[in-house]
This record gives sequence, C-alpha cells and structure tokens, in this order.
Amino acid sequence: MTLNPGPVPVVALVIPVFNEEPVIPELCARLTALFDGGHGCTWRAVLVDDGSRDRSAELLRAQAARDPRFEVIELSRNFGFQSALAAGLTQARGADAVVTMDADLQDPPEVIPALVAAWRGGAEVVRATRRSRAETGMRRAGFDLFHTVFRHLSDFPIEPNTGTFGLLGRDAIEAYQQLPERHRFFPGLRAWIGFPSADVHYDRQERAAGQPQQTFRRLVRYALDGVFSFSHMPLRMLTYAGIFVAFMGFAAGLFFILWRLFRFEQSPTGFTTLAALITFLGGVQLIGIGVLGEYLGRMYDEVKQRPLFVVKRRTVGKR
Ligand code: UDP
Ligand code: MG
Repeated sequence: MTLNPGPVPVVALVIPVFNEEPVIPELCARLTALFDGGHGCTWRAVLVDDGSRDRSAELLRAQAARDPRFEVIELSRNFGFQSALAAGLTQARGADAVVTMDADLQDPPEVIPALVAAWRGGAEVVRATRRSRAETGMRRAGFDLFHTVFRHLSDFPIEPNTGTFGLLGRDAIEAYQQLPERHRFFPGLRAWIGFPSADVHYDRQERAAGQPQQTFRRLVRYALDGVFSFSHMPLRMLTYAGIFVAFMGFAAGLFFILWRLFRFEQSPTGFTTLAALITFLGGVQLIGIGVLGEYLGRMYDEVKQRPLFVVKRRTVGKR
C-alpha cells in the first residue's frame, strides 16, 4: 500500500485517444479546469494517441506545447484500447497514482477528486462505478449479457457497473506492470491484482462529441478476452458435454442390444434420426474444437512475446 504518498502526490491521468478530434478541445479545457483546481495534487495528463487518422495527435501535441502538465505518446499505428492503456501506464511510472479514463468525456473528469479522496482514505484500487449508463439498444444488451456470463464464469468476478474508469495507487500499478499477457482485459486484471479497493459512484455521461471508436466487433472480441483469459470454465463445460454425450451414446447402444436380443428388431427405419444425430454430434465436436482454438490462439500470441505497442513519438513538456 502507498502508506505515505507525501504532502503533494503526483496523480497522472492515462487517456487513450483514437480519432477523437471533435472532443479534444473540451477534454483539454475540462482537464485544465481540474488541474487548476489543485485538489492538493500535482497533475499530469498522459494522452496516448492510438494511431488516430484525424488531427487528434496534432491537437494533443499543441496542447502539450501550451501546457507542460500534458504529455503525449503517439503509437506507430492503431494498437487498440488495451494496448494504448498499457503504453500510458508505462509512461506514467513514477506517479503516486494513475487515473485511467476514456477521452470522450463519458468518464467525467469532475469525478476524479472523489477517486483521489478514496485513495487517500486508504484504497489502493478505486473503481468508478456507474449509477446509470448512457448506452441503449444493442450495445446495452451486449454489455448486460457479457456481465451476466462473466459473473458466472470468471474466477475473478468484476463489478457489473465498472469499466476502465478508476484509480490505481503506485503498488497496484507495479503489480499491473508485472502482468505480461498480451490479451488484456483491464477490469479483470484490476480484480486479479487484489489490494484494498473502494467504489466511487458516478453518472456515466453521453459521449461529448464524435462517434464511438470501439466498434461492436471489437467489443465482442474484448468480451471474449474477458471470458477466456479469466476462466477455464469453457474447457470444463466441454468435458461435461463430452461425458453427457458419451453416456447418451452408451445408453442408446445398450438399448439397441436389448432390442435385438429380445427380437423386437424390425426393418431399419429412422434415417432422419440418424442424420440428426450425426449433425448434432458433428456440431458438438466443432464447438469443442472452436473452444480449444480460442485458448490455443491466445497461447500462440503469448508465446510470440511481441511487445504490446510501438511508440512513434513522445511529446513531454519541460517541467
Ligand atoms: N480508443 C483507443 N483505441 C481504439 C479504440 C478506442 O484508444 O482502437 C479510445 C477512444 O478514443 C476512447 C476510449 O478508447 O477514449 C473508449 O472508446 P469508445 O468511446 O469508442 O468506446 P465505448 O465508450 O463505446 O466503450
Ligand atoms: Mg465512449
């Protein structure tokens, strides 16, 4: 635990940015207001440009030139939210605490002083927990489905109403940095590292401007990472399914032997039953292979040991 963070702790905000040009002016303005408020901290913003194709990086660099409390890391291409987050956390090493948040102001910066207060109260991990969600429709249904499945499968349950938004103390950041895996599911990793934690409730906002940059496909992949990285349950369910199907097969075999012994046999009918059985069993086997493949593919990615991101340029103001 960060026992004595000192009189003026350094708090760094790590913010992945991908094609967020329309929100950057408001983001910078609201962060500046927060920083100017002081709140007994020295503030840093680590903005990670995740290979934006619009003028995001340029705007961020201009901000860093104006205000040395802002620094920018530009990745060489779009590596995805989790990698951008990891890049920012690496850059923020040395800070007493790190706040992780989205750039689109769905995580309002005005909540950050409450996160810091909870950290000062002794929590090494602070989760910002949504009282309400702005999303509706398909996205909302997807989130709800994921959290229901995750709660039942994962060995490290996460709060259904938490996301990336939150704060990590120095020890928690060190622990996080020691997790070497490539498929990163931040809320799960945060649950895994342990430490005393606290929840701060807030109302999740609508995006300040622009479109969601996480496509639905990406969110599905992210959800699969969550399940497969934190649970062996799918493998175990395969075993159970195998035992069940084998038992049914055995029972059917026994039934047909008795049927023949007692001379009930008739001319062969039931071709449709046979066809249905074959497709059913074929399907079960393919699902099994697919689940194995999910783990195998992840193992392959881990074995390759590629870095999570490549940095193209750093813009750090003079302090
Ligand atoms: N983001 C990123 N890389 C990506 C996609 C998104 O750094 O490949 C950033 C994005 O700029 C935003 C945050 O991740 O700051 C969350 O993205 P978004 O708002 O699109 O996701 P949602 O709020 O729908 O989960
Ligand atoms: Mg968003």
